[in-house]
Amino acid sequence: MSRLKGRTALVTAATRGIGYAVAERFVQEGARVYLLGRDRQRTAAAVAAIGAAGYVVADLSDREQLQRATEDVLHYAGHVDILFHNTGGPRPGRFLTLSLEDWEQALRHIFDSALILTRALLPAMIERRWGRLLYSTSSGVIEPLPLLHLSNVTRSAVAALALSLAPEVGPYGITTHVLAPAHIITERQQQMQHYRAEQEGLPIDEYRRREQGALAVARFGTPADVAALAAFLASDEAGYLTGIIHPVDGGFTRMVPVYSEVYTREIVGGDRWPKVRSNAISTDCTE
Ligand code: NAD
Repeated sequence: MSRLKGRTALVTAATRGIGYAVAERFVQEGARVYLLGRDRQRTAAAVAAIGAAGYVVADLSDREQLQRATEDVLHYAGHVDILFHNTGGPRPGRFLTLSLEDWEQALRHIFDSALILTRALLPAMIERRWGRLLYSTSSGVIEPLPLLHLSNVTRSAVAALALSLAPEVGPYGITTHVLAPAHIITERQQQMQHYRAEQEGLPIDEYRRREQGALAVARFGTPADVAALAAFLASDEAGYLTGIIHPVDGGFTRMVPVYSEVYTREIVGGDRWPKVRSNAISTDCTE
């Protein structure tokens, strides 16, 4: 498909995982794609591998580097129609193990980078009466994840930015979206699985079986699953959608309680609010 023909995109944190898959998909959809990465060699290699238009190098948590890289992109590309903002993951840990410096660093990396890029790219989108601001966060913005305070909080700020902007930029043909992935198998996700299995004292295979069982679709996701959604949201076809948080999580987050017999029985039985994490189909759907 070539739904993004004629569009210019910038994808950040794009040398592997979700960012890489999104950049690759945008290229396949016909966009001129620029990559932002931390490491020159790895970023150049990714550009060559997917046939992207070019790259800039910056650490997302370094404001000056990021500002310079953004100016460079605008210089090479003229303007950017589509921003896919993606970052590295902040470190996990119990609340009291996190220092104020950890919080400052995570805010700079995740929230400030979204803010700086949005401020830099928005004027040309407004002028051209078209734009897509896509922010990749985490399912933690819908339901906070244990041991991921830095991620839950800083990414919720990014989600709030996207939702707050939507009505202001909508009249100019600019839409904003938050992608909220979970259980997408990448390097980061594998590290997190090992970390959590260790925290719970479980063998990794057992931990993975349990996690997979909690997903409605009974499989882990792939970066291509996120890229497919990003390509649609970036296209003209999605012009009537904006200001939305999209879980890309195989049904991991349940935003509406499931009213099932199991649910009713547990409530009547006095149990605490149950987490219904089974594939059972609800048969008693009364409101
Ligand atoms: P990944 O570790 O495979 O890729 C992360 C990318 O970010 C790499 O290219 C890395 O070089 C880049 N990066 C890291 N720090 C950077 C910095 N300071 N400046 C510039 N680039 C930097 O991770 P992934 O699984 O593809 O996830 C991407 C993001 O989505 C991460 O923040 C992750 O925490 C988050 N996330 C992932 C999942 C999932 O299921 N994989 C779920 C929720 C959230």
